[in-house]
Amino acid sequence: MRLMQDWPMTLDRILEHAYRWHGDQEVVTRTPEGPITRASYAEIYRRAKRLSSALAELGVRAGDRVATLAWNTQRHLEAWYAIMGMGAVCHTVNPRLFVDQIVYIVNHAEDILIFSDISFVPLLKEIRERIPSTRHIVLMTDRSTFARCDLDGALCFEDLIDQAAGDAPWGGFDENYPAGLCYTSGTTGNPKGVLYSHRSNFIHTLVTLAPDVLGLGARDSILPVVPMYHANAWGLAFSAPAVGAKLVMPGSQLDGRSLYELIADEQVTFSAAVPTVWQSLLDYMHGAQRQLDTLRRVVIGGAAVPESVVRRFRDEHGIEITHAWGMTEMSPLGTVGSPTRRTDRLTGDERIKQTLKQGRPPLGVDLKITDEAGAAQPHDGQATGYLKARGPFVVAHYYCAEDQELLDQEGYFSTGDIASIDRDGFIRITDRAKDVIKSGGEWISSIEIESITSRHPAVDSCAVIAIPHVKWGERPLLVVKKRPGMTLDQQTMKDFLKDRIASWWMPERVEFVADIPLGPTGKIDKKLLREQFQTAAPASAKPE
Ligand code: AMP
Repeated sequence: MRLMQDWPMTLDRILEHAYRWHGDQEVVTRTPEGPITRASYAEIYRRAKRLSSALAELGVRAGDRVATLAWNTQRHLEAWYAIMGMGAVCHTVNPRLFVDQIVYIVNHAEDILIFSDISFVPLLKEIRERIPSTRHIVLMTDRSTFARCDLDGALCFEDLIDQAAGDAPWGGFDENYPAGLCYTSGTTGNPKGVLYSHRSNFIHTLVTLAPDVLGLGARDSILPVVPMYHANAWGLAFSAPAVGAKLVMPGSQLDGRSLYELIADEQVTFSAAVPTVWQSLLDYMHGAQRQLDTLRRVVIGGAAVPESVVRRFRDEHGIEITHAWGMTEMSPLGTVGSPTRRTDRLTGDERIKQTLKQGRPPLGVDLKITDEAGAAQPHDGQATGYLKARGPFVVAHYYCAEDQELLDQEGYFSTGDIASIDRDGFIRITDRAKDVIKSGGEWISSIEIESITSRHPAVDSCAVIAIPHVKWGERPLLVVKKRPGMTLDQQTMKDFLKDRIASWWMPERVEFVADIPLGPTGKIDKKLLREQFQTAAPASAKPE
C-alpha cells in the first residue's frame, strides 16, 4: 500500500526549484579570467540542461564519471548540475593534490571527461598521456580566451552549450544513484574515494538549512570560500539554490583583499571557510577601518579554529563565529556549534571556550566515542575516545572497496578523530588520531596547545607535532611562524604557556619557521612538519 508519494530525492530537483521559484536570483562569479560575471538561476538552469545534452552527444552516459578541475564559479556549478542531472557522477578533483595523486584518482575513477578551468591547462598538458580513460577535456571559458589556450583536442564550454541539440531530460532515476565522487587526501597510502548518492546529498542539504545548522534562507547572500572540490563546498552549492539564496563564487582569488571586496560589494551574509582563509581576511582588515557590516554568520571548520580567530572576530568585528566539524566521509557536516538555551547564557571567556568546541550533531548524525577496544565512553565532556559516526550521509564503503568493512557492529564509521562529548552533545576534537602525542602513556592534545599559543600577539600561526623521545615515547614540539616585525623567542613562548597548560604538556622545543606548510585543502600539513623535525631528543631530557 502506498500512503505517500514516491518522489525520488534527486539533486536536479534542487536547481529546478531555484529556476521555478527563484529564477531571478543572482549567482555572481569572480571568474578565473578576471572579470565579475552575473547570471540568474533561470539562466544557469537552462545552460546546465543544454550542457547535459552536449555531454550525451559526447557519449557520456548515466553512471559515467565526469571530473571537474575547477574553482568555485558559475560554470563549475553548471557542470555539476549538468553531470548529476543526467545521472552521471561528478568527480571533483582537488587541483592542489600532487600531480601523481591527481593521475591516480582520475585513473581510479576512470573519468571519461574532464571539465577544467584555464588555470589548469599546464597541469593537463603534463598528465594528458597518463590518463587513458579520459576521452575529452572541456575548458570552462569563453570563446576568445579558449582561442588563446593551447591544449590539443580540448573543447570549449561555451561552444558545447551553444551547439547542443536541445535540453536533456533530468532525473527520473532512483535516488540511490551515485551523484558525486570526492577523494580524501589520505596522508598515508592512496587517496580514497567517497561516492555520494543523490539521496545522501539531498538529505544533507535539507539538514544544512535548519536554523541551528547553517540556517540559510532566500534573503542570504552566500559566499562559499571552501572549494567545491573540498567535500562539496560543505554542501553550499546545493543549499544555496535549495533556498533561492544569492550565491557569490570567489573563483581562484582567495586572498584577504579579494574576499573582503566580494563580501562588501555583494553584501554577503553567510560565508564558510577553513581557519587559514579567515586569518588572512582578518589580517587584511586589521587596523584599516574595514568592517564586515553585512556578514551575519561566519562558519569555520575543516581544522580547529584557533582561539585568536574567535577573539579577533568578536573584538574587532562584533561577530560570534560558528565552529563546525566534518569530513569528506560525512558529506561533510558532522557537528555545528550553534548555542542551546543553556550555552547561550555563557559569557566572556566561558563563551569563548564554548565556541572552541566543534559543535553538536544535527538530526541525521549519530555520534559516539569509544576506547581502543570499541567500548563506549561517557558523554561527560571529560572522557576522550575515538569519535564514530553513522547516519544517512555518512560513508558506508570507499569507492571500489566494497570488500573492506568500514563500520563497526552498530554501523558506526570511525572518523579517525579523538574527541570528548559533553552532556549538551558538544564535541571537542583533541586531535586527529594520527597526530595525537602519546607522552609517557598519556595523550597530549596538539589542538589545545595550538589554540593557546595562537593567543600570543606575536604568533601568526603555529602547529604542535609529536617528536620521538627515548624515555617518554613522544613529546610535543611547537612550530611557530611569527607575525612580521614581531620578536619572540623560545623562552618567552614557554613562559606564556607555563600557567596555561599542564606542566607535562610543555613543548620540548619551540622552532621558529618562515612558513608553515599547508596541505591541499588549506590545512596545516603536519605530516610534512613531522618529516622536517623528526629527530629524537636525548634520553636525559625530561618533560618540564
Ligand atoms: P577532510 O575530509 O579533508 O575535510 O578532513 C576531515 C578532517 O578534518 C576531520 O576528520 C578532522 O580531523 C579535521 N577537522 C575538520 N573540522 C575540524 C574542526 N572544526 N576541528 C578540528 N579538526 C577538524
